[in-house]
Amino acid sequence: AARDPKDLRSPICCILGHVDTGKTKILDNIRRTNVQDGEAGGITQQIGATYIPASAVESRTEELRKGRQFDLKLPGLLVIDTPGHESFSNLRSRGSGLCDIAILVVDLMHGLEQQTIESINLLKMRKTPFIIAMNKVDRLYKWNSVANSPIQDAMARQEEYVRKEFEDRLNQVMLQLNEQGLNVALYWKNRDPRSFINIVPTSAITGEGIPDLLQLVVKLTQSLMVDRLMFVNSLESTVLEVKQIEGLGTTIDVVLVNGMLREGDTIVVCGLGGPIVTTIRALLTPQPLREIRVKGQYVHHKELRAAMGVKIAAHNLESAVAGTQLYVAGPDDDVEDLKDAVMEDMQDIFSSVDKTGEGVCVQASTLGSLEALLEFLRSDDVKIPVSSINIGPINKKDIMRANAMIERGHKKFGVILAFDVPVTREAGALAEQMGVRIFTADIIYHLFDQFTAYLKQVKE
Ligand code: GDP
Ligand code: MG
Repeated sequence: AARDPKDLRSPICCILGHVDTGKTKILDNIRRTNVQDGEAGGITQQIGATYIPASAVESRTEELRKGRQFDLKLPGLLVIDTPGHESFSNLRSRGSGLCDIAILVVDLMHGLEQQTIESINLLKMRKTPFIIAMNKVDRLYKWNSVANSPIQDAMARQEEYVRKEFEDRLNQVMLQLNEQGLNVALYWKNRDPRSFINIVPTSAITGEGIPDLLQLVVKLTQSLMVDRLMFVNSLESTVLEVKQIEGLGTTIDVVLVNGMLREGDTIVVCGLGGPIVTTIRALLTPQPLREIRVKGQYVHHKELRAAMGVKIAAHNLESAVAGTQLYVAGPDDDVEDLKDAVMEDMQDIFSSVDKTGEGVCVQASTLGSLEALLEFLRSDDVKIPVSSINIGPINKKDIMRANAMIERGHKKFGVILAFDVPVTREAGALAEQMGVRIFTADIIYHLFDQFTAYLKQVKE
């Protein structure tokens, strides 16, 4: 396919960080201000993502540019808020990140927290470039707020002692980041963005620094990632979630990273029991934010172009596995090859577990989160052995597998570590009856804490 540096797709930008640092609020701030402005071609809520068109970035950065033109080369930004790390772990292909750039949100008042460090490790592992939003500057004592202003203007307005507190706190956090092996710099002092990670101070509540953040994401992506962002008409797409929707049956939410999808396309998807080949019945996106009174929850499309968050309705999607690639079978494609390709990631992960050994059972909602959890359990300072894995809700047969550990005389491994998955009622009852312990959590290290506490208890 022809690639043209003038035809770029929207970069995919993930927001990561510890809980309560303000990830969702930053997105809210970007959306709300724009909706209030009555901006044409406004921001749209997408499947698991928010689309910010170039025009919205342009208007939001006007004050920052002080009359200078913004040479925007991108159609927009596709921003993905990540509840936990799940979506981020899912946005991957063959071990590398699908996410083009990330925003790591840190609370200026709290510094680095557990999930900040987990996020940093994920970003390093996937080699994803990122920007740090040092959020909640408005909480500095006696902060003088002017809503939505560029951050340097906001700083210039503060009393000396406010700036001093800011610098003290910032220096502390910068030291913590250095300890994680990261070179960082305030973005306006950063002379070498390839070696130093940019920090943008922000407030998601009053909006200071948000223009800077938007401008920086756009500038970095369109200047340093042209090659990666050139639109190609070959499909790259990841299943983010498998969802039951009334009136549509089982649907999959996908991020279309590159290429196009059309109604009627034959798609090949990874299923728990084997590859699924099916036809796209409906290609859907949610209604734009402001048209709330329009009938129906979704807009139907004949075709869609990357990058975009899309819901697909089709038959036979019940056993689809989130966190895997989706392929379209074109006229020249061999469906058998695609079937193999689509199962490859899952098979790699399943075959990495020694089922004859002793260890806990691990279950997660998606392939991406399962992989992240396994990587964590295998890491040097954790080292919890795993004897079996599965994806999706915990059923009776999962309890039976854990029980097999007990029967083989390894009572302490008669355990299921369940990440972000429900336990069916029958399974719960059976577990109780057999003495299988189920630990559930939606933060990885909480599972670790629960299991280590349990091990201690078993020993005593
Ligand atoms: P998330 O868990 O990272 O998505 O965090 P949220 O966006 O839900 O925010 C967590 C809490 O912090 C909420 O009560 C927000 O109102 C508050 N918060 C987020 N950003 C800011 C900020 O910039 N300034 C202040 N003062 N509060 C904030
Ligand atoms: Mg949130």
